[in-house]
Amino acid sequence: MKTILFNLNDSELEQFIQELGQPRFRAKQIREWLNRGAPDFSHMKNLPEDLRNKLNEVAETLPLKIVKKLESSDNQTTKFLLELNDGEQIECVLMRTTYGNSVCVSSQAGCAMGCRFCASTLLGLKRNLTVNEMFAQLLVAQWELRGDRLDKKDIHPNGDANNGDVSHIVVMGTGEPLQNTENVIGFLERANGELNISWRRITVSTCGIVPGINELNKWGRPINLAISLHAPTDELRSQIMPINNKYKLHEVLDAAFAFSDTHNRQLMIEYILLGKKDENGDTVLYNATNEHAEKLVELLRDHNVMVNLIPWNSVDERDFASLSGNAVHRFQDILIKNGIHTRIRRERGADIGSACGQLRLKNARDKK
Ligand code: SAH
Repeated sequence: MKTILFNLNDSELEQFIQELGQPRFRAKQIREWLNRGAPDFSHMKNLPEDLRNKLNEVAETLPLKIVKKLESSDNQTTKFLLELNDGEQIECVLMRTTYGNSVCVSSQAGCAMGCRFCASTLLGLKRNLTVNEMFAQLLVAQWELRGDRLDKKDIHPNGDANNGDVSHIVVMGTGEPLQNTENVIGFLERANGELNISWRRITVSTCGIVPGINELNKWGRPINLAISLHAPTDELRSQIMPINNKYKLHEVLDAAFAFSDTHNRQLMIEYILLGKKDENGDTVLYNATNEHAEKLVELLRDHNVMVNLIPWNSVDERDFASLSGNAVHRFQDILIKNGIHTRIRRERGADIGSACGQLRLKNARDKK
């Protein structure tokens, strides 16, 4: 097995380098490249060529490798299929926006939650990701943005204020972060400490694991919390999200409101608008009727929330249907009329299967 240099601490890296007969300062040079996300040794131009070749034989840089990279047609979204050292695959998405560069990070290989509309959970949970494996996803995105350029000028086409660096994190990739809370916290501490990403630019999304939400609350960092709600009653929610049999809607919302009150943050509510095909093949509303919207208003009234309405990204294996823009707007209008902040999530990278485990699933199927 090759040694993964990113997983070594400074003194271990020095020792490794000295064992190759190299002076200690090489370790520092290598560390700088690793921290910028260099995917292989050929980029480490300040190392002698024979050392780069040697390292290539005995070591790897990061604990994950890019298997596939897809660009959306508008060039704003890049999706990576990444392979970990044990062969598991995960996804990570870089979104260039007017407010900065946001990375959607996976917290697990696969997912155990079994939500009925989601592709990530179809192959079950393989394992939790380590702190380094989550951090390395940021570095992959960072390298994509900046590569080996040190000059911060003229590299960001959107002209944003972030000088082409990763500025936002959403833990909304594959997996349930609050089943891996300790590592997620460790990862975010490092992102904040080492990449200077402020707490307010970090969002953790959960399907509603109440003890995990309480743990985040105790941790005390003023990040944003997003709750994947997707239904306004226990009856409906339990049909599409098995976790609701364990933690009921009201328990989840109470824990989430407590979190946003403690940190004085707006709570994000995610709500996928789902349709179903009836026996004539027509699309009917599943969780998106006027009545559902009114029930949602009752749950959220008087709280500081933002409801993100998400058009469903269709998944072949899943028996739902996407809704028309009209249906989405009608639902939204009811929220607005009742004073609930809401927006419709822009579908980023739908053309590259950028939603929710689709790429990983397809690759696993193609391999068979
Ligand atoms: N497990 C966490 C984070 C990962 S899922 C959670 O449940 O929040 C990130 C978001 O994408 C969740 O709101 C999830 O419900 C949503 N999602 C999953 N599959 C989707 C699909 N096919 N189309 C649109 N959104 C989807």
